Amino acid sequence: MLSVAKRACACCGYLTLDGEGLLSSDGIHFGNFQNCDVCGWEDDYASRRDPNCRGSNGITLVEPQESFARVGAYDERLRHNVRAPRPDEIP
Ligand SMILES: [Zn+2]
Repeated sequence: MLSVAKRACACCGYLTLDGEGLLSSDGIHFGNFQNCDVCGWEDDYASRRDPNCRGSNGITLVEPQESFARVGAYDERLRHNVRAPRPDEIP
């Protein structure tokens, strides 16, 4: 069976995002605006480049990383819409 490489979510770190993504000239992945199934974070370009930037998620990447560690989702209100990581998504 062919396995397709997944990319790590910028928030939770699990390998949930499809495709290679695009690389900027300085080697940083552009986000492709896919939502992570494990934490709910949207993979946006702005926060990939600068974790302190408020990208399409409307908040910086720092707070959701703390929320994920605490409640299992980047936003506490989303905790019923996400799922546990599968074994193949653990980096
Ligand atoms: Zn995630």
